[in-house]
Amino acid sequence: MTQSMTTAKPLLIGGEWRTTDQTLTAHNPATGEILGEVCTGDAAEIDAAVRAARAAFPGWRAAGEAERKQALRRLHRVLAERRDEIADLISRENGKPVMEALSADVLVSLDSLAYYIKHGTRELAPERLKLQQRLLIGHRADVVYEPAGVIGIIAPWNVPLAIPLSQVAAALIVGNTVVLKPSEWTPLIGHAIAQLCAAAELPPGVVNVVAGAGATGAALASHPGTQRIVFTGSVATGKKVAVACAQRLCPCVLELGGVGAAIVRADADPQLAARGVVWSRFVNNGQVCVATQRVYVNQRIAQPFVVAVAQETRKLRRHTEHQRGYDVGPLINPAATERVKSQIADAVANGATVLVGGSCGNGQAGTAIEPTVLTNVSPQMTVMRDETFGPLLAIMPVADDAEAIDQANSLPLGLAMSVWTHDVDAGAVLARQLESGMVWINDGPVYYADPTIPWGGVKESGFGRTHGRWGLHALADVKVIARSRPGPRIWWFPYTPLVQRLLDVGIALLHEAGPRAKLRGMLRALLR
Ligand code: NAD
Repeated sequence: MTQSMTTAKPLLIGGEWRTTDQTLTAHNPATGEILGEVCTGDAAEIDAAVRAARAAFPGWRAAGEAERKQALRRLHRVLAERRDEIADLISRENGKPVMEALSADVLVSLDSLAYYIKHGTRELAPERLKLQQRLLIGHRADVVYEPAGVIGIIAPWNVPLAIPLSQVAAALIVGNTVVLKPSEWTPLIGHAIAQLCAAAELPPGVVNVVAGAGATGAALASHPGTQRIVFTGSVATGKKVAVACAQRLCPCVLELGGVGAAIVRADADPQLAARGVVWSRFVNNGQVCVATQRVYVNQRIAQPFVVAVAQETRKLRRHTEHQRGYDVGPLINPAATERVKSQIADAVANGATVLVGGSCGNGQAGTAIEPTVLTNVSPQMTVMRDETFGPLLAIMPVADDAEAIDQANSLPLGLAMSVWTHDVDAGAVLARQLESGMVWINDGPVYYADPTIPWGGVKESGFGRTHGRWGLHALADVKVIARSRPGPRIWWFPYTPLVQRLLDVGIALLHEAGPRAKLRGMLRALLR
């Protein structure tokens, strides 16, 4: 972080634009060009933002469904109007092609907003319970979903608009207020979210945006004024966030990393599966939490599948050669490039073959690396165990489905997996055996685009869900309202022998096994 210049974009706290004397510099990862500066906040600004969100909470909660929907409609309209400008900013600051900025970020955000406007409150409608306890005949119990309060959202850079904005929209429709900490690698997009909220005239303090790096995120995760933390990022940081939340018993949703596995069955069309797997790996230049990294292909079709993957990968147009109309952009920063290179080096040192790619291209800003495919890989290589988060695909032949399942389940992570097969129903049966939050049959990360589908992982890929009714429920408190007409109850004091005997008769009647035992039990209770 550097000292602030006057042009640095301010933070949004309590409806006011606030400058600080520390800033982040935003770069274009493809060229290294400086795109602008954004003011950053530390624990003091996080505290001010949480207080502002807390102050705004009663009004937002009381505003009711119609007003909240109206506000989200304005946000939806402003984003739709500014979509070209926002997609262009995403492409420049994150590096992804405009097509992906429009589809994975802008469209997903618009669809999420539309879903919450249309269905959000219905998903949270009160539910009347069918009571099972016979003593409670005449009583009624309803479950209602209450807004939890202030939601802290800590976001990554790889889907810098849709991940935070869809989480903000879910929090708001429930009736919560928000403090958002965008990624330090995409601070201008974080600021653009603040501008969208301001342009949509959300009431002051309902959404607050504080830019910053890890320390700012840590200040938010540990702030006692937040009632939920929704964190999306790496497993390592997620564990720190979980500890911070555990210390104050604050529930959190953790959307963490994975090492996505694809199973290509013997009955799959190798050409088609290869096209699908190549997209599932290299979309967003491999910087997708649910990207396919390991492929377990049945040995009967391994040869044509590998040939087709190589052909499809070689067709990808890189940003280094095509300024416009490219398929894969740069990696976000030099550290990401180093991670990919070290996994390639480890694999090659242990006997892997580089089928396609493998080298650093023109090295613009140190972030260019070719889409790379490895064969002759083995399970102990880092590429088969650790998340690459870059354009590296490893293919391993297996004897049958059972071996593929064993390999896919062999890691402590379980975010997303895919099955490629002609027999879709058999694929669904196989899916039940995979230890994964999401399993896709004959497609890849496209399912992020549907706001009704719950998103999240198992094992160390995290817990809790965003999206759909599961995402909404994660941001609400469950409250039971039980009611009955005024009157004395048999279970109140004083306890009497008669009531105890009746209780015993009832237990025998309901819970002894078989008519004889029931009769015996009831007689014993009556004659006691
Ligand atoms: P990261 O963990 O480095 O950072 C994520 C966010 O956490 C950033 O805003 C960062 O500033 C903040 N942060 C850093 N240290 C913190 C701390 N101690 N306390 C609180 N916040 C802190 O991750 P990243 O590089 O931004 O994103 C890439 C990772 O995110 C990958 O592992 C990817 O798989 C994962 N991811 C998961 C999903 C999902 O839906 N499961 C989606 C996108 C990305």
